Amino acid sequence: MSKLTYYIGLDDTDHIEMGCTTIQINNFLNFIKKNININVKELRLVRLWPFANRRTRGNAALSSIIVISKSDNELFLRLSKNWFNDLLFEVSQYPSADISASPALIISQSKLPVDIYYDTVTGHVDRDKRINEIEKFDCTIFSSDDKFGLIGASAAIAWTPNDNSTWELISWRDDSMIGKTRILDVSKINNLDSIHPNTFMNRDPTKNKGLIAPRTPCPVLYGIRGISPIDVEKAHIWLQSDQRYEQCIDFKIFKTNQLSDDHVTPSWGSVISRSTTVQGAHSFISVYSDKKNLTLVAFQEGGPVNTLLRYLMPGDIVCWTGLCSPMDNSIHLEKLLLFDSVPRISHRPICCSKSMKSTGNNQILKCVKCGNKSDKYWISQKRIILDFKNINGWTEPSPSNRRHLSMPLDFEIPTLDNLIS
Ligand SMILES: [Zn+2]
Repeated sequence: MSKLTYYIGLDDTDHIEMGCTTIQINNFLNFIKKNININVKELRLVRLWPFANRRTRGNAALSSIIVISKSDNELFLRLSKNWFNDLLFEVSQYPSADISASPALIISQSKLPVDIYYDTVTGHVDRDKRINEIEKFDCTIFSSDDKFGLIGASAAIAWTPNDNSTWELISWRDDSMIGKTRILDVSKINNLDSIHPNTFMNRDPTKNKGLIAPRTPCPVLYGIRGISPIDVEKAHIWLQSDQRYEQCIDFKIFKTNQLSDDHVTPSWGSVISRSTTVQGAHSFISVYSDKKNLTLVAFQEGGPVNTLLRYLMPGDIVCWTGLCSPMDNSIHLEKLLLFDSVPRISHRPICCSKSMKSTGNNQILKCVKCGNKSDKYWISQKRIILDFKNINGWTEPSPSNRRHLSMPLDFEIPTLDNLIS
C-alpha cells in the first residue's frame, strides 16, 4: 500500500480566554485518527522569536510528521478542512479587542527550508513575504483571513531538530478543571531533579518555585522537560502515580527547540560607559562592538547578569548573548561574561595591617600607627571575575527568569551514553 508523509504545522490558535496550541494539535490528530489510520512519527513544539508582535506568552508553534495511506488522502484533506473550520468558528466566539487568534494549519508534502525557521526564531517576519515563500512548496494551507498564523506554522515545519534537541511532555487537564487551581504534589515536583536527573528546568532553586505548571488558566496541567522521551515519560508516570493528585486527561511528548539558544548569536565588545540604573529596575551600559555603539540592558530579574553589568567599567571587554529589542534597538541581555577587565583601584599600600593615609595634596603617605612613610600610589587589581558564581565567569538569570529558548550554562548536551543509561 502506497504511503504519503505529511508535515503538519499549526499556530496562533490560542488567546487569553481559550485554549493552547499544544492541545489543538492533539485534538486535530485525534480527530483524524477516529476516521483514518495515521502513523504519527513525531510531534514538535517550536518556540519562536520572543519579541514577535503577535506572540502569546511562550510564543510556541506546533508541528507533526504523519504518514497516511495514499488512498486516504482525499478524505484526510477533507477532514482537515472540516476540523479547521470548526476551530475557526470556536476562535470567532472569543473576539479580542487586543489581538485575536489567527489560526493557520499547513499540510505540506515538503519539509520547508530551515532558513524559514531561523528567520522566525531570530527576528521579525513579514507576513506577505512568508506567504510568497511557502506558496512555492506543495502545501495545503488553511488559515483565517488575516493569515498571521502562517508565519509560526511554517516555521514549526521548517525547524530541523538535531542530537541536542530536548523534549517536553505536556499533559492536559479535564475540561471541568480548567480555571481551577492545579492540585499537584509539590514534594514530588521538588524531587523531580534528583529522582529523574535527565529532566530539567523543573524548579527554580533560588526562588523555591516549581516551573512545570503554568500559572495561567490554560488546559495544560504541566510540562516536563528532559533529554529523551523515555525520561520525561518516566517522570510523568511517577508524578501521576498518586491518585490524590490531579490526573491528566491526556498527554503527548514533543521534540522541542527549547534550550537551543537558536534565537541568539554570541557577541563581544568593549565597554565605553559606566552603567546607569533606572531606580530599582534595569541597568544600561554602552559598548563598542563591530564598529557600532550599542546599549546593553540587564533587567533586575536578571540577577547575576544585572550585578555584573553594574560592576563594569570603560575598557572592560565583555561577551554576551541577548536579543535586540525592536522598540529601541537595545540589547536585552540573556548571558554576560567579563572577558577581560581594566584594573580596578582598590586601596593605598598597607602598613601595620591598615591602609596608609595621605598627608595632603602632593604629599607622601604615612602609616597612622608606626609613622612609616611611602610614596603616594594606589594598589590596583586586575580581577578575574570568578566571584559571580557562574561557570567560567558567565552569568545568567535564575531559571524562572530565563526564556524557554535559552540554554542554561550548566546544560549538558546529551550524549548517546547518558541517553542509554
Ligand atoms: Zn606601620
